[in-house]
Amino acid sequence: MLGMMSERPLLISSIITHAATFHGDAEVASRTVEGPIQRYTYRDAERRMKRLAKALLRLGIGRGDRVGTLAWSTHRHFELYYAISGIGAVCHTINPRLFDEQIVYIVNHAADRLLFVDSTFLPLVERLAPRLPRDCRIVALAEGEAPPVGLPLLPSYETLLAGEDDAFEWPEFDERTAAALCYTSGTTGHPKGALYSHRSTVLHAFAESLPDAIGVSARDVVCPVVPLFHVCGWGIPFAAPMNGAKLVLPGPRLDGASLYELFESEGVTYALGVPTIWLGFESYLSSSGKRCSTLQRLLSGGSAVPPSMVTAFACHGIEVRQGWGMTEMSPLGTTAALKAKHRALDPQAQLAVQAKQGRPLYGVEMKIVDDEGHAQPHDGKSMGELLVRGPWIISGYFADEAATRAAVEPDGWFHTGDMVTIDPDGYMQIADRRKDVIKSGGEWISSIDLENAAVAHQDVAEAAVIAVPDARWGERPLLIVASRPGCRPEREALLELLARQFPKWMLPDEVVWVEELPHTATGKIMKTRLREMFGIPKSSGQ
Ligand code: ADP
Repeated sequence: MLGMMSERPLLISSIITHAATFHGDAEVASRTVEGPIQRYTYRDAERRMKRLAKALLRLGIGRGDRVGTLAWSTHRHFELYYAISGIGAVCHTINPRLFDEQIVYIVNHAADRLLFVDSTFLPLVERLAPRLPRDCRIVALAEGEAPPVGLPLLPSYETLLAGEDDAFEWPEFDERTAAALCYTSGTTGHPKGALYSHRSTVLHAFAESLPDAIGVSARDVVCPVVPLFHVCGWGIPFAAPMNGAKLVLPGPRLDGASLYELFESEGVTYALGVPTIWLGFESYLSSSGKRCSTLQRLLSGGSAVPPSMVTAFACHGIEVRQGWGMTEMSPLGTTAALKAKHRALDPQAQLAVQAKQGRPLYGVEMKIVDDEGHAQPHDGKSMGELLVRGPWIISGYFADEAATRAAVEPDGWFHTGDMVTIDPDGYMQIADRRKDVIKSGGEWISSIDLENAAVAHQDVAEAAVIAVPDARWGERPLLIVASRPGCRPEREALLELLARQFPKWMLPDEVVWVEELPHTATGKIMKTRLREMFGIPKSSGQ
């Protein structure tokens, strides 16, 4: 017998309609590419989204068409998320920090019919134009006429909107319809596309709103510092209006001073981003002696959160929660929120829990398997590759059968490529990416653990550990350090610090200093580049 409950489709447009109707005066404040803050309400936002939807239809965009964006986190990008998906088309956010080759590949692979481009990225598009699809038209995200570039442009974004009114009903269609497309940067091979549906996006927004996940309420002022071109801004542009929270979009300026000024002027209570951003922000707070008067919590994910970062922010009265996820997972899979039983622990023991990647949100199934595919116990010791499955996790890559076959099992389990343990309380901990693993004398050495310990040294800004081939042990760890301006920690002092936490055989044989560590387009330390820099071939796992 089936239940007798309404099967209203889970459509993204219903989120903004809900916000406009029941949180109509909640604000969206956005730092524009031009500089000033643009401010309006969810009610105003939906009106402009409807105009944009009509403009898209007038430009011939229909169901399933891909529409690309090359844009910072601003109100216009927010409007594109909803208007494009709202008419059944697919919002393809493009990471402008990718290499030219990768951008050309993904725009052609996605077959984008239209590109919405911030004025700062017009020169990029001009350079790539000869290699983009011939029928791909370009709209500048600007007022009036866009600055002249050697490109034929459609009327500007604001001109298109001014030509429409907001008398529009969002259409209804199957909730499984594709809504957004995001490519993973991928350290090897071509980028691969994760194609989110309306259903997956709405369910992900529900799940991340839960208190132990990200937790978003109508009393929050939320700022996704993670750009809207990276995995849908971690879903915050959906979760904030769903809950009636004020949304603050930071535009292009993500340095410590600019973020501080924005957080203070807009009253941000909660911000989300990668550790690199937060390390920069903390260093700004420490060196300037400034205090945040409203900021209470940070969610940090994308790479491991060093425990020293949690402690440093605690001194500023700010809680850091670690999250883990992937482009293929919309992205959120786990958070390291404490359980009631952890309250009794001393601060160091609590920190050890918070330093793990965390426990899964309801909806995310997880298992670890060894090289033969056998499930491993959740004992906090047995290590294996993490496999995940769930309603906001990919079932395959967009138009890429080979990549799908390599990553997704026939029964839906997706190979994350992360080597992990899961403890009896359900907390997952990453030792390494599969391709970064260090195996010395048959034993694992976690590069993440060593890196976290090294950044705890006051003179270290960032640290990376890579495997160096070794005739006797197979591989040995090499520690590469970028120091804080004007500092250079002594090799001995650094190794001594590590020796307090690790057995001797795990300690790096060498320490090297560099000016700066190379980063990927998503802000992670680029280990492939480091291996090239140090002339290290890496055969295993790649
Ligand atoms: P890309 O592959 O484009 O860099 P993703 O954001 O999809 O971007 O990367 C996902 C990977 O990032 C995960 O598989 C994991 O290895 C790493 N990662 C994400 N969050 C964390 C975290 N909190 N700690 C350690 N690694 C993380």
